Amino acid sequence: MCATCGCGGKDAAGAGGSMTRIDGRELHRHDHDHLSGADDHHHDHPHDRGGHHDTPEYGNGLAGIHVPGLSQQRIIQIERNILAKNDECAAANRARFAAANVFAINLMSSPGSGKTSLLVRTIADLCHHYSIGVVEGDQQTSNDAERIRATGVPAIQVNAGKGCHLDAHMVGHALDELPLASGSLLFIENVGNLVCPAAFDLGEAFKVVVFSVTEGEDKPIKYPDMFAVADLMLINKSDLIPHLEFDLARTIEYARQVNPDIEVFVVSARSGEGMPNFYAWIAKHRA
Ligand code: MG
Repeated sequence: MCATCGCGGKDAAGAGGSMTRIDGRELHRHDHDHLSGADDHHHDHPHDRGGHHDTPEYGNGLAGIHVPGLSQQRIIQIERNILAKNDECAAANRARFAAANVFAINLMSSPGSGKTSLLVRTIADLCHHYSIGVVEGDQQTSNDAERIRATGVPAIQVNAGKGCHLDAHMVGHALDELPLASGSLLFIENVGNLVCPAAFDLGEAFKVVVFSVTEGEDKPIKYPDMFAVADLMLINKSDLIPHLEFDLARTIEYARQVNPDIEVFVVSARSGEGMPNFYAWIAKHRA
């Protein structure tokens, strides 16, 4: 869960777990007091730290996160309420997609991985085969929706404000505005963030994580929740690989450590390399 916007949940901790470590050492935790009060961190301290007893317990309680002023129990209650409400909205979106025969893909990544460029390329290559619509999520601006609309495809921009992810309720409102023909492809471009969007079902059929070769091989193990929930990883900007020290095999190995079933395609939205694999994946799963 994100302490800024109140998103996520402990069930989303995924393959990485929620244990806090400092320099690889687990924080020592007394088992009492974790359900009892507003102050959940004053008993915790790292081993071998020479008496730094005020080290906060970031993420070491039952809730898996630390929020000043909230007990672990209260955080869990808030998380459950938020995610239960989101799941209701996601189910409603999913029913709408089924009724209209819409195939929805939730695209997630860190900012700057090339999601919008990848969508622009995809639309140019597929718009003669499918009717396409796009929901764009960003904290601010409608720049990306304008880029999509310039391709001739309808796009609705959702600005999440200080929020760091799209939720199913926002997507439901966007769908009210978005003209989608029966049989359409719907791409939902999430807010650029490798953490919080992983926890929120939007009603999509598949989750796709876009990872660019400039981000560093170890992102899948640093942010395991995202890669654990994704059905497909697109390793984008492959045209830059000759200019980088980038270990492709290691990146894929890390992704499969957290998600043995994840499919992987190496693509370049800029050059078009590998994109037909993505299009074939869409055709296969839509059918
Ligand atoms: Mg974008």
